[in-house]
Amino acid sequence: MECGQQSTEPRGSMADIPKDLLAEIKNLEDAFTIDTAKLKAITKHFVSELEKDGHETGTYLALDMGGTNLRVCEITLTQNKSEFDIVQSKYRMPEELKTGDSEELWEYIADCLQQFVEAQESERPPVEGKIPLGFTFSYPATQNYIDEGILQRWTKGFDIDGVEGENVVPMLEAALARRGVPIVVSALINDTTGTLIASAYTDPKMKIGCIFGTGCNAAYMEHCGSIPKLAHMNLPADMPMAINCEWGAFDNEHKILPRTKYDVIIDKESPRPGQQAFEKCIAGLYLGEIFRLILVDLHDNKDVHIFEGQDIKNLRKPYTLDSSFLSAIEDDPFENLQETSDLFKEKLHLSCNRPELELIRRAAELIGTRAARLSACGVAAICTKKNLQPCHVGADGSVFNKYPHFKARGAQALREILDWPAKSNPREEDPVEILAAEDGSGVGAALIAALTLKRFAKGNV
Ligand code: BGC
Ligand code: MG
Repeated sequence: MECGQQSTEPRGSMADIPKDLLAEIKNLEDAFTIDTAKLKAITKHFVSELEKDGHETGTYLALDMGGTNLRVCEITLTQNKSEFDIVQSKYRMPEELKTGDSEELWEYIADCLQQFVEAQESERPPVEGKIPLGFTFSYPATQNYIDEGILQRWTKGFDIDGVEGENVVPMLEAALARRGVPIVVSALINDTTGTLIASAYTDPKMKIGCIFGTGCNAAYMEHCGSIPKLAHMNLPADMPMAINCEWGAFDNEHKILPRTKYDVIIDKESPRPGQQAFEKCIAGLYLGEIFRLILVDLHDNKDVHIFEGQDIKNLRKPYTLDSSFLSAIEDDPFENLQETSDLFKEKLHLSCNRPELELIRRAAELIGTRAARLSACGVAAICTKKNLQPCHVGADGSVFNKYPHFKARGAQALREILDWPAKSNPREEDPVEILAAEDGSGVGAALIAALTLKRFAKGNV
């Protein structure tokens, strides 16, 4: 079990590490370590921010436009709640599209959809009329209707002109119409909402849906009566509404989160400085970059001897290391750190001695641990505000599913924040368990689209 951040001494001895590196390791520990008291203060501030009202999102079937991939799914819901038939294709989001122009983006997506639909048409009986599509659009969006999504701002490194402030649904539909693809966008949802709905469908104890992936965020259910900004709509007070927290934007005002100089650089160099402060400390897109910035900084510090006499030009390229690089380092057996050494050789053309390898390992642990512990503050805040204990939290995303120790570190931090007594039996469930979610952006979107169609069919909007 991970022991939070109390221990400053990683496994193995650091006796042979030169003084300059030891001092830097200590500095990094001071900068990245977040103790229980600070976690509690962050959680408290988080609760007060949640009080301020959420971005409501209505919710719908399955094109998943994430930060890294584009996924198209065709989902068949069976009678059995825990079974879904799903056929899917994944396409990589080409890097140049993320900062290209709007037209290219929608043409590319329409093209992927067209290919998918045409391939499917040869596999099954034709669908009559237009096929309804749930569009998982995982960016902050304003929704007055379920089939609308006005992009508030791009996140996750996207920077495409002409989309912010616009409804993305007609843009996608126009590109589809130009190609004669028979699809109608019936719902636009956020990935967290999809995760919540898909998870709650099979496990009624699921009360929160989270994404810890390229970006990070969470959604939970609220009653309309508790959402001040919906008051003018006279909706039934007990009508449930999914709240997309957009918690990546937590503490954009820099009131509470401890920020290292590396966090400041990440923000300044990003396409949207001042935004997504919480996300920039936690999400997969940034973890490798924080790590890279540390190493470059230490190399450039004359008093610290790291990669001495070696050309670090490969390490100088922004965003060359993704979070899977850190995952591999954290997964590497500490005794010889061979994999780490090989990775530095292959990817960066750098050879590392033992003290350097230990510093590298410690830096990865500190970044990964901080991300997990801060993530727990968001979960604890929602549980506190909504009085949800005991409950399950459905989580998805590459960091949650693949980053070593992320789950255990997050669980440990929750214990500290929410002051749970020690368990008498180690196999006993914690009052709040963060578990792997159903596929929210696919199945969740399909479910929401299906529910929406049913609702309209009955004529009760
Ligand atoms: C977006 C959210 C999304 C999260 C996880 C964030 O950057 O703003 O809408 O839920 O990433 O994909
Ligand atoms: Mg995703």
